[in-house]
Amino acid sequence: MDARFTDEDEAFRREIAGWLAANLCGEFEIVKGRGGPGDEHALFAERHAFEKRLGDDGWIGVGWPKKVGGRGCSLTQQMIFHEEYARAGGPGRVGHIGEGLLGPTLIHFGSDEQKRRFLPRILSGEEIWCQGYSEPGAGSDLANVATRAELVGDEWVVNGQKVWTSGAETSDWCFVLCRSDFDAQPKHRGISYLLVPMRQAGVEIRPIAQMTGDSEFSEVFFSDARTAANNIVGEPGGGWAVAMGTLAFERGASTLGQQMRFQNELDEIILVAQNNGKSQDPLIRQRIAQAWMGLRIQRYHALRTLAGIAEAADPPPAAMISKLFWATWHRDLGKLAMDVMGAAAELARGEPYDLTGLQRMFLFSRSDTIYAGSNQIQRNILAERVLGLPREPR
Ligand SMILES: Cc1cc2nc3c(=O)[nH]c(=O)nc-3n(C[C@H](O)[C@H](O)[C@H](O)COP(=O)(O)OP(=O)(O)OC[C@H]3O[C@@H](n4cnc5c(N)ncnc54)[C@H](O)[C@@H]3O)c2cc1C
Repeated sequence: MDARFTDEDEAFRREIAGWLAANLCGEFEIVKGRGGPGDEHALFAERHAFEKRLGDDGWIGVGWPKKVGGRGCSLTQQMIFHEEYARAGGPGRVGHIGEGLLGPTLIHFGSDEQKRRFLPRILSGEEIWCQGYSEPGAGSDLANVATRAELVGDEWVVNGQKVWTSGAETSDWCFVLCRSDFDAQPKHRGISYLLVPMRQAGVEIRPIAQMTGDSEFSEVFFSDARTAANNIVGEPGGGWAVAMGTLAFERGASTLGQQMRFQNELDEIILVAQNNGKSQDPLIRQRIAQAWMGLRIQRYHALRTLAGIAEAADPPPAAMISKLFWATWHRDLGKLAMDVMGAAAELARGEPYDLTGLQRMFLFSRSDTIYAGSNQIQRNILAERVLGLPREPR
């Protein structure tokens, strides 16, 4: 296994770093370090404009195949892209769900017509997507979805409720898991994967206030919402395989580059500790060292995974520990940040509820072990698919 970067990879690193230095300035100086977890509403219009700038120069969909308009970069280069983006203080991406989840799903499962209609507008940064999976009665167990879709003439008519829909308020489209066959058994059959426009009378969005002070997710109510008959990915009733494909993209390559963002957070914690004297506390020093080591483990694990993929074509089973490891590590980093800040952690900077980046990080990090598959669900997956233990009773 060779985990070193090639000359070509290093040249790619210089290219994206140079582009960011030349573009993340001037009118875009204010979006540096803004947006992202816990800060999703910040400067949305400006961040959307930056997304379009990325699209203009072909920096959206770097991992997508060239034949659909992407850059066709290797996984290693995708990681480099994300690393440099975070190193430069690139803003939270407003188009990450379209680029990271829906786009790869359409490339894999979509019709030619769907690829032509939807992919270019993700690549240009024009259209924003959200994910309509979870419902009040269906989270970890997605096969329980109860939102109904009926084909009436040349349209699907959708009724039901989604919840925890990130970015619903700012999205143009949602990919929605619906039940279209009400008698099918087992229950994961009969689910359809629909592409539904958000800006229509049948869609009501009710933001949910979060403890970060933001409301990046919402309840979404569909009341006779409509979408064209051909806006279905896969067969009617055959949406389960498509939905699982999207989840694999959500837990996979899209998280490879986040370590640089985590590094920025750890650097900030170390700076606070140095300034307020906590760096002299031996227990804090030990926890900082542990956090540093955990981050190195994540990086080397990512490199090992990439090298394994290059050699074996398929992700090695060990790749599946990533979500559980990073989510638990990051939740602990949030606690460390608060302990390093000490009493100051309990005070907002100003009115109303003006939190620092570390305070927001701590509060939002509580959700890391829930979304994209909770820790318990990740452990079930590892037990069954990697260790080959008996399946849990269903
Ligand atoms: C910040 C954030 C953003 C989100 N964004 C979106 C989004 O954009 N779109 C979307 O559709 N959803 C989104 N979600 C929802 C997320 O996918 C769900 O919260 C998650 O899948 C868990 O489902 P649940 O909340 O219904 O919890 P439940 O499934 O009810 O689980 C409750 C508890 O039981 C445990 N549990 C459940 N089943 C098992 C089992 N079989 N074995 C052991 N333990 C089990 C869980 O681990 C958890 O601790 C988001 C969530 C968060 C926190």
